[in-house]
Amino acid sequence: MATYKLFLLPGDGIGPEVMTEVEKVAAFLGEAGVASFEIEKGLVGGCAYDAHGQAISEEHMAMAQAADAVIFGAVGGPKWDSVPYDVRPEAGLLRLRKDLALFANLRPAICYPALADASSLKREIIENLDIMIVRELTGGVYFGEPKQIIDLGNGQKRGIDTQVYDTYEIERIGRVAFELARKRRNKVTSSEKRNVMKSGVLWHEVMSALHKREYPDVEMEHQLADSLGMQLVRWPKQFDVIVTDNLFGDMLSDIAAMLTGSLGMLPSASLGEANPKTGQRKALYEPVHGSAPDIAGQGIANPIAMIGSFAMCLRYSFGLGDAADKIEQAIADVLASGLRTADIKGDAASTVSTTQMGEAVLAQLRKAMA
Ligand code: NAD
Repeated sequence: MATYKLFLLPGDGIGPEVMTEVEKVAAFLGEAGVASFEIEKGLVGGCAYDAHGQAISEEHMAMAQAADAVIFGAVGGPKWDSVPYDVRPEAGLLRLRKDLALFANLRPAICYPALADASSLKREIIENLDIMIVRELTGGVYFGEPKQIIDLGNGQKRGIDTQVYDTYEIERIGRVAFELARKRRNKVTSSEKRNVMKSGVLWHEVMSALHKREYPDVEMEHQLADSLGMQLVRWPKQFDVIVTDNLFGDMLSDIAAMLTGSLGMLPSASLGEANPKTGQRKALYEPVHGSAPDIAGQGIANPIAMIGSFAMCLRYSFGLGDAADKIEQAIADVLASGLRTADIKGDAASTVSTTQMGEAVLAQLRKAMA
């Protein structure tokens, strides 16, 4: 049985509450002989600032670098609203993304049939939806230089951001999307704005060449980002894997997320470059939601996004796709049985706590693996 080093960063607010449920699943997988996990824990965000005045310490950064995967809860909260900008809670997450060079953000949008009525779209549009948005995470307009506000001296100011992509950045995110598609329904939709942006022209050109050269077996199409936004709410099931840049990915993945209902349901993965020798990638897995200060400490947070993020870790970092499938099926079964946390209550008569939901998923998983 293989052993993997997990570095857990529960963070603030509901982060530690939902992380506890992941620890139970990891312990069970050890008992069941699927894989064993060496677990270490660290501080990130507000709690790290309280402990050592930084959003993540050098020691914990080194532990993140040494781990096979980082599992991240959530950071932030009103308590730290006025701390200096460079040590604010979010700086811990940004440092992790930057230092681990996590350039590919994977956000699945899955709609469980049991929750189809919670969406703002009609049931037939989103029931059984399963798409994957692959967003470039370390380049583009959020990082391009110059990035500044200039005083023009005539009572006017000018704000400048720079959208910039090099060939290698487009190729490496493209490869992640094509590889994923091969394991799914074999289709990639690449999205940009080549009608008005030079970076879009290059994106289109590089993706087309990559497709032709390395992935001719995968079906590929291009869609302008504005049109893709429209198609996402019109008929999302036409997509399998969508690959796009940092800015469009930010918006399109949030739209896709809301197709499926609550923030408490959405997992994500951020991956770095594959090590040429081992094929291993640096990786961080986290729920899409934040620290939810409004419900922190009440034991009512939905742990499904966090558990789903751990399932992604098993699939993408450790090749344990079968165990990941079983966890996701256990989640679907628990939802189908009618169990609900408060955020996905819908018409349910009652709701369960974080622990009860986590343990129900675990019990279902035990049954499936018995
Ligand atoms: P949020 O995601 O924390 O909460 C938005 C709403 O969704 C809240 O009503 C919350 O109760 C609910 N919610 C979120 N996750 C839930 C869950 N698992 N179960 C049940 N309900 C859930 O976003 P916000 O309120 O905008 O931000 C709160 C804090 O979190 C801020 O400090 C923000 O900066 C931070 N934040 C952190 C991350 C991160 O760590 N990656 C992401 C987003 C926001």
